Amino acid sequence: MAEAGSFADQVKQQADIVRVVGEYIRLKKSGQNFTGLCPFHGEKTPSFAVHPVKQIFHCFGCGKGGDVFSFVMEMEKCQFPEAVRIVAEKCGIAIPRPKERSPEERKENQQRAALIEMHREAQSFFVKQMESTAEGKAARAYLEDRGLNAEAIERFGIGYAASGGDALLRQLKQKYEEKLLVESGLISRDQSGRLFDRFRRRITFPIANESGKIVAFGCRALGDDQPKYLNSPESPIYSKSNVLYHMDRAKEGIRRQDFAVLVEGYMDAIAVARAGVSNVVASCGTSLAEPQIKLLGRFTKRIIVNYDPDTAGQAAAERSLTLLLEQDFEVRVLALPPVGDKKADPDLFIREKGAEAYIKALKEAPPYVDYLIARARQMDLTTGEGKLRALNFLLPYVQRIPNRILRSEWATRISQQLRIDEPVLRAALSKAANESRSEVKTKPELVGKVAKQIERRLIRMLVEAEEFRRELSQRLQHGRLYEGLETEKVFAALIMAGLSDQPMQATEIGALLEERDRRLFFEILFEPAQEGSWEEAESCLEALRRRQIEQELANVQRTIETNPAAQAMRELLTRKQELLRRLTAVG
Ligand SMILES: [Zn+2]
Repeated sequence: MAEAGSFADQVKQQADIVRVVGEYIRLKKSGQNFTGLCPFHGEKTPSFAVHPVKQIFHCFGCGKGGDVFSFVMEMEKCQFPEAVRIVAEKCGIAIPRPKERSPEERKENQQRAALIEMHREAQSFFVKQMESTAEGKAARAYLEDRGLNAEAIERFGIGYAASGGDALLRQLKQKYEEKLLVESGLISRDQSGRLFDRFRRRITFPIANESGKIVAFGCRALGDDQPKYLNSPESPIYSKSNVLYHMDRAKEGIRRQDFAVLVEGYMDAIAVARAGVSNVVASCGTSLAEPQIKLLGRFTKRIIVNYDPDTAGQAAAERSLTLLLEQDFEVRVLALPPVGDKKADPDLFIREKGAEAYIKALKEAPPYVDYLIARARQMDLTTGEGKLRALNFLLPYVQRIPNRILRSEWATRISQQLRIDEPVLRAALSKAANESRSEVKTKPELVGKVAKQIERRLIRMLVEAEEFRRELSQRLQHGRLYEGLETEKVFAALIMAGLSDQPMQATEIGALLEERDRRLFFEILFEPAQEGSWEEAESCLEALRRRQIEQELANVQRTIETNPAAQAMRELLTRKQELLRRLTAVG
C-alpha cells in the first residue's frame, strides 16, 4: 500500500489510472466510468470498469479490482516496488535515486552489471564466429541439417565457440580482470593457473533471464565430444534453478493463452517455438526446481509437460509433476508417440511430422492422472506384488487431487484399469489422503446483488460525502446500526476511516477487507448514483434503526413463545411493549 507521503503515494496522486490502463487495453467512456474487455479473463462483452474519480478498476466478471498499482502488478506479474517504478515511468515522474547503498552492495551491483555486459559481448563474439569462420560454417551446416535455417539461427541468437581454446579469452581479457572472467563461467582456469575458454568446438545457445538479459550459455558439442551438452556454471548472475530457457520471449504468450508448454532442452524449445507455439519454456536440466515453478506460476497455473520419452525424461517429468501439483498447477502430460521406431522428443517429432501434428498432439494431451495410469499399466500387473507397486506409484499423485469428487472418480478408474479391488484401493487412498497435508480450497463465490439498497446508498455516502462523512460515521457507530448486516465488515472499515481525519481512499479500505467484501464494496462504488444528501442519509439511518428494532422484537417474541414459563416473562413483555412503541416513533 502507498504510505502517505512516500514516493509510491506521490506517484499515485499524479498518475491517472485511465491513462495507464488505457495503455494496455482499449477503454471506452461509459457514463462516469470507462469500460473495456477485461485483460484478466477471456470475455467478449466488456465487464471491466475503471473509475476515473476514485482511481480504481473493477471487473464484474472475474472480480479482480484495485488501484493503478495492483493493475500493473497483475498485468506485468511484478511486485509492488516494480509496479510503482513502471507507473512512474509511464507518467513521466522522475524516480528518486536509490538510497546510498553499502559499499559491498554497490560493488556487487557493479560486478553483476559487468558480468551481464561480458555475456553480451560473448554473445556477439559467438555469433560472429558462426558467421565468419570455417569452423562456424561447418556448425551452421550441421544445424541446417537438423532443420535450423538461417532465420532460426538468427532468431535464437545461436552462435559458435571455436576449438582453439582462447579466442574468447583474448577478446575479453583486454577489458576485464581475470577474477571476473573466471567468475563469469565463460573462462576456466586449469591447475597450472592458465586461463582458457570454457566452451570449445560447441554450438552456443544464449540463455536469458526473465527480462531478456543473457546470463548464461547452453552449449552443444559439434562432434562426439563429451559431454554432449555443457552449460554455464552457477554465477552471480545465473542460477540454474531460477531461469527457464525462452521465458523472456514466452511470457507474453503464456499470459495471453494462460498455459505454458514445458520441454527439456533448448533444441526442443526452439523447435516448438518455431512450430508457432510461442508459450514454450525449457527447464534446461532434468527436472524443474521450485523457483522455476514459482516463476512460471506468476504467469499461469496451467502447464503441459512434454519431456523426452526416455527413462530419464519420464523420471524427470514425474518428479516435476509432484512439485507442480504442490504449487496448485493444472497439469497435462504429453507423451509423443514414437516416430518410426524412434522415441520422439519434440524436436524430432516436429521435424518428422510437422508443426500441425505437434499442435494437435498438444491439444489432446491428457490430464496427468491419465498419463500416470497409462504408465502404471506398463508395469507388470499379473502379480499382486506388481499391482501393489503400480498402486504405490500412483497414490502420491492421486492424493494431491484437491477435489474429493474427482479423486473418487479417479479411484474408480484406477481400480478398473489396474484391476484392483475398489474397496481396497479406496482404503489405501483415504489413508494416504489423511496423511497428506492437502486441504480443500474453495473458490470465493461470485457475489450477487446481496446488499440491500439502503446499505449500498450508505456505503457510497461514506466514501463520497466529505461534508457529512464524520457525522454519518458517528451515528452508525453510536447506534451500532450496521451490526448483523451482510455489509457489516465494509461498514466497520468505512466507519473507522470516517472517524479518523485521513482522506478516504477506496483502495485502502479495499485492502482492509476480505476478497468477498472487497468485491462487493467495489461493485457498489461503480454503480451509477446521484450525489447523496444529509436528508437521504437520515432516512437510510432511520430504516436501519427500524430494522434493528424489528429484529430485537422478533427475538423477544420468539423467547416468549418458546419459553412461556420463563421467570423473566414480565420483563420480556415490558420490553416488547417498549420496542413496539419505539417502532411507531421511528415511523
Ligand atoms: Zn475479469
